[in-house]
Formats: sequence, structure tokens, C-alpha cells
Amino acid sequence: MADSDAAPGLARITVSPRALQENWLFFRAQAEGAVCAAVVKADAYGIGLGIAAPALVEAGCTDFFVAHRHEALAARALVPAEARVFLLNGVMPGEELALAQAGIVPVLNSVGQMERWQAAVPGAPCAVHVDTGMSRLGLTPEEALERAELIEALAPQLILSHLACASAPDHPKNAMQRAVFMETCARLPVVPLSLAASAGALMGPDYRFDMVRPGIGLYGGGPFDAVAVPLRPVVRLEAPVIQLRDVGPGDTIGYGSTREADRRRRLAVVALGYADGFLRAGSNRGFGVVRGTVMPVMGRVSMDLVILDATSARGLAEGDMVEFLGPAAPLDAQAQACDTIPYELLTGLSRRAARVVA
Ligand SMILES: *Cc1c(COP(=O)(O)O)cnc(C)c1O
Repeated sequence: MADSDAAPGLARITVSPRALQENWLFFRAQAEGAVCAAVVKADAYGIGLGIAAPALVEAGCTDFFVAHRHEALAARALVPAEARVFLLNGVMPGEELALAQAGIVPVLNSVGQMERWQAAVPGAPCAVHVDTGMSRLGLTPEEALERAELIEALAPQLILSHLACASAPDHPKNAMQRAVFMETCARLPVVPLSLAASAGALMGPDYRFDMVRPGIGLYGGGPFDAVAVPLRPVVRLEAPVIQLRDVGPGDTIGYGSTREADRRRRLAVVALGYADGFLRAGSNRGFGVVRGTVMPVMGRVSMDLVILDATSARGLAEGDMVEFLGPAAPLDAQAQACDTIPYELLTGLSRRAARVVA
């Protein structure tokens, strides 16, 4: 697509369903015998559920996880009847029948949710979450063991837990949680088990159990803090230069005058701001790339604009597109520069930008 197409002056997000499929196939290969699901909550981490779900189905994925009921309904409409849609945030009182009728599999997170599910829709598919060390969702191991009979009656399709520290694979918490999960599940009815998200899925056979649940890795984000994983970029975020200007020593740049030109510099003012998901935390730290040249952010990111140091970007012209995420501007590096994680950059991506499927 030429730069002048569609909406000139607007940021553009290009999504590659092919790259998403390749990343899922990478996780499936790593999963060996285990089922490889896909986590598609938050509009598939911001890339668009309508793009992600059909691509994952085409690649062979049959198990999907979302966080909210409206996401589950949207996913349900995009995947075949035989595929499963798990609802991580569980079931609110009174929602049981509607969820069961919609063919959504809630992940029951408390004794109350289990009791209500069993009373309202006995026999309807469900999953059970056991908390092994996050103090977030799920039954405590003690609650799970006390209610082993109820779990047996529910015959869950899956018992799952979630690792708190998998981004650091050597963290002792990982082995602790795995041990608690195994000890608890050994005393519960035998059903398929799942512990690993993206990071855990790459931590070897001990963490795989029967199903892995990658999310971020599918969208090209490295799940580990320190180790790079060979994943394809799925999102490319670009925005146009709308003004070039020259500044000299002492000229201050942007809100709060947090930056001052040390010498004569050329600045590129780009139509991308925090309202487009380019975080304000990237002020004086983030970067854009044009034809291989990295241009650091100068001063604060504002709502609709960011200012880059384009002094070394020879030939840069107004209207040129600058890449902020993509093959030249890796998601993990930009997230680090913006003092955040790839999850937050992706899920914050703009609804204002033009969306293109590559
Ligand atoms: C979000 C989530 C995942 C996916 O995690 P990633 O780190 O994105 O792979 C898996 N399981 C649960 C319970 C989650 O909440």
C-alpha cells in the first residue's frame, strides 16, 4: 500500500495474519504432545480478534481463551462450533445459563462459581482455576481439595493454574508453583491440566502438562525478560512526518521543555501520540526508524504528536512514514525504551489509526 493511500496524515497499523500463524505454529511445535491453545483476550492483544481468530483457526488452533463475556461471544462467532472458547474471568451470578447456551466454557475461579454452575447448568462444560501462588483468580489448593467431590461432579474439561514469574524462567517461584499444582491435581479427579502461558510453554516439558496457553508470543512479544525468542513481528505501527524543522543550541523541545537542542538539529514532527498508544513513558526514550536510521524521541510525547531527532536521517521528507513497531523497530525494544512490557504497547494500540491487513 502506498503511503498516500487511505488517510494521509494518519498513523497506520499493519497486521500480518501470516506472521501470527507462524508464531502459533512455533508454539505448537514447542508444545510437542500438548494441545496448543491461543489467548485472544483484549481484542487479541490489540491486533483485532476479527483478524486473529480466523487466522488461528486456519493454522489449526481449536482452543481459545478470552477474559470477558463479550469477548467470548465475539470469539464464539468467529471459530467453528467444535472449537472451545474458555472464559478466564469466570461466571458472574446469573450468567450461568446464558454462557452455557452460548457454548462458552467458563473458567470457574471460586467455590461459589463452582456451586452456582453445578446448580444452574449441571453437566455443561467448564474449567477450574486453582491459584498456586498469584493470589489472583482461582481456588486455593485447600479449597480445591475440600471440594474434590464437587470438582468430580463438574467433570471440568481442564484444571488450570497460572505462573507469576515465568518471565524469569530461573525464578524459584516457577518450580514452587509447579509442585503445588502437581500435588493438588494428584489428589483431584484426573482431567487435562494446563499451567503454561507463552513463557511457561518455552520452559521445557516439565511445564507443558496437557495444554499450553500462549498469548503475547503469538503477537510477536518476547515472553522472557532477558532471553530473546525468535518470533515474527505481527504488528507494524507507522506514522507520517507532518513537519520538519531545524533547531539550534538552546531551543527547547516539547511540553515542559524537558529537552534542549545541544547544537543545530533537524527535528521530525510525527503524527503519533499517546492517544494512538505511543506511551508518554516513551518521552525522551522511545524511537522511530526510517530506512534503517533510528531517530530518538526528543522531549515529551504529546497526545497527537511526537518529535524525533532526524538529524542523521538524510533525505527524510514530510509525508514519509516512520516505523515505531515492526521489523525495524522491534516490539520488545520499543517496550523497553518506553519503560513497559510488549503487552501494554500492543493492547494500547490506537482505534484512531488506519488498520491494514498485510
Ligand atoms: C493472559 C493469560 C495467558 C496468556 O499469557 P501470555 O503471557 O500473554 O502468554 C494465559 N493464561 C492466563 C490465565 C492469562 O490470564
